[in-house]
Amino acid sequence: MTTQTQPVDHELIQAAAQVARTRCRGDNHTMAAAARTRDGRIVTAVNAYHFTGGPCAELVVIGAAAAQGAYDLKTIVAVGDRDRGVVSPCGRCRQVLLDYFPALTVIVGAGDSLRIVPITDLLPESYVWADHQLDAEHVTAPSTS
Ligand SMILES: [Zn+2]
Repeated sequence: MTTQTQPVDHELIQAAAQVARTRCRGDNHTMAAAARTRDGRIVTAVNAYHFTGGPCAELVVIGAAAAQGAYDLKTIVAVGDRDRGVVSPCGRCRQVLLDYFPALTVIVGAGDSLRIVPITDLLPESYVWADHQLDAEHVTAPSTS
């Protein structure tokens, strides 16, 4: 467990809570996420539920940020509809967020235990996809002998 001294981004939580309160509808959209970009902007999104594996709000916000030209996220938080408060990312999202933004921090916890943690703390001993991709510099031609 990492000792955390970074302050919680309450403006980010409020942005996600506002979207959860006003934009989540029915069973298709039940979660909102807000991300702080490296340059300080806030991008929000909601999940797009589908039984085949529709994306969580955290994944939709990655695309929404890219659509606004923001390719590096600093902090992310997800908030549930019906006043459920901050919700931790699921396992799939933890892996995707780690691969996209290894330096990302995530707001987790509730009430007095709200805290900001590195994505790496949420996925210990993680598989790092980029570490297992063939590096063109190290690929050698097949031996002809
Ligand atoms: Zn998820």
